[in-house]
Amino acid sequence: MVIKHCTLRHFRQTSSPPRLYPACLLLPVSRNGYQQPILAITFAAVNASFMLPDFNNTQVAFQYRSNGEIKQAHFLFSCLGSPALTKMGIAVTRFAVANNLPVQGLIKKTLFKQFCGGESLDEAAATAATIGKYNVKTILDYGVEGKESEADFDHAVPEFVKAVEYAATQKGNIPFISLKVTGFCRFALLEKVHSRETLSPAEQEEWQRVYGRIDAICKVAHENGIKVLVDAEETWIQHGVNELCDAMMELYNKTEGIVFNTFQFYSHLSLPYLKLSINRAVEKGYILGAKLVRGAYMEKERLRAKEMGYTDPIQPNKAATDREYDAGLELCLNNLDNVYVFVGTHNEKSCLLAAKYMVDHGIKPESSRVYISQLYGMSDNISFNLAHSGFHVAKYLPYGPVKDVVPYLLRRAEENTSVSGQTGREFGLIEKEIKRRDL
Ligand SMILES: Cc1cc2nc3c(=O)[nH]c(=O)nc-3n(C[C@H](O)[C@H](O)[C@H](O)COP(=O)(O)OP(=O)(O)OC[C@H]3O[C@@H](n4cnc5c(N)ncnc54)[C@H](O)[C@@H]3O)c2cc1C
Repeated sequence: MVIKHCTLRHFRQTSSPPRLYPACLLLPVSRNGYQQPILAITFAAVNASFMLPDFNNTQVAFQYRSNGEIKQAHFLFSCLGSPALTKMGIAVTRFAVANNLPVQGLIKKTLFKQFCGGESLDEAAATAATIGKYNVKTILDYGVEGKESEADFDHAVPEFVKAVEYAATQKGNIPFISLKVTGFCRFALLEKVHSRETLSPAEQEEWQRVYGRIDAICKVAHENGIKVLVDAEETWIQHGVNELCDAMMELYNKTEGIVFNTFQFYSHLSLPYLKLSINRAVEKGYILGAKLVRGAYMEKERLRAKEMGYTDPIQPNKAATDREYDAGLELCLNNLDNVYVFVGTHNEKSCLLAAKYMVDHGIKPESSRVYISQLYGMSDNISFNLAHSGFHVAKYLPYGPVKDVVPYLLRRAEENTSVSGQTGREFGLIEKEIKRRDL
């Protein structure tokens, strides 16, 4: 006799196949009038989704990395840990790339290997398949930046459509793509739309073409069940981006979150705007896709506000940004009937807040309404431990020709130079894993 023993909570919290552990149980069974104990093998369905993740578990964090890869990552992060060396490396790389010097091979073996998925869709898909084995999903991020001509913008559309269609063939490993509106529109036009200046007839046509490009991608994404994350950039182009996102959500988010707008909580405008966006979605009858980040352009924002003499949109300090981020996160979690939320952060506290809220409120960890995400090559301790505990996790995976993703890579290098904060934790975690593996 086999008795399957599953807890009620198991059924409530997960639909993924339970992990089965053999266990012995003595059951009193009545047979021929006698109470007779028999030994029954039971399978206790034990599911890790009941547990909050342990972000210090480096074994789980780096399980997808070979010994050789761990040693390479160790070397890279030890170099990045030296601000002088990194500053010099960044300056030399910029100069070399600008002057077509042969540095691509070196970049490919170091920064590119750590932070990018590959040069082509096939290479990125191979990386996605590797991390997918550990239930960590992928967001395809075509990392080419800095294009400014109509021809480039037109050319980008089939590239993204191809990525969406490719993602759809990857058996659920790649549920998202991301895009930046500046990949499809002149920055100056976005600035003009943002400032509500009257557009000339030619500019109105240009703006319509931008709408058409974004729509072409979102339409194919909707048809293929792939989600589109629209990244946030500088606050002074955001109105136009919001306008496009709202229009796309109204079209494609009728029954699920397909298109996501991004909210940067270092801006004191974001929490009120998130509330407005939820209300708008409810009124218009669609689901708000909300990607939550702290924001990546703080210095630039502060400098511009100072130079141009307007109120700095950035929170007064880090604690205020943290408070606002977590408030935005809780607001989304409290409104999951109307919101799909994408928690984009390397901040352990915010990730734990999301996980704990879900556990406390009986929200299935693998609920498609909540995704938690980090960048590829960073904070694997968060991503892989959350995924190990059953949560929905995805990594931003940039891909593209090495020379085109250099700006992205240099930003990652700069970010990882800081020895304080979450990113500074990277090196310590890799060291811990090196010791654990006795390398
Ligand atoms: C999956 C993912 C997607 C992302 N997409 C985007 C995007 O579309 N647009 C974008 O702008 N960024 C994006 N980012 C970057 C993000 O905005 C942050 O810059 C980065 O993740 C660091 O913040 P954190 O929450 O991970 O970690 P933390 O280390 O906890 O926070 C660092 C952040 O806090 C804020 N901060 C630091 N010091 C201060 C201060 N003195 N005053 C006020 N605020 C301060 C800054 O935003 C800083 O980046 C993304 C990040 C991830 C992980």
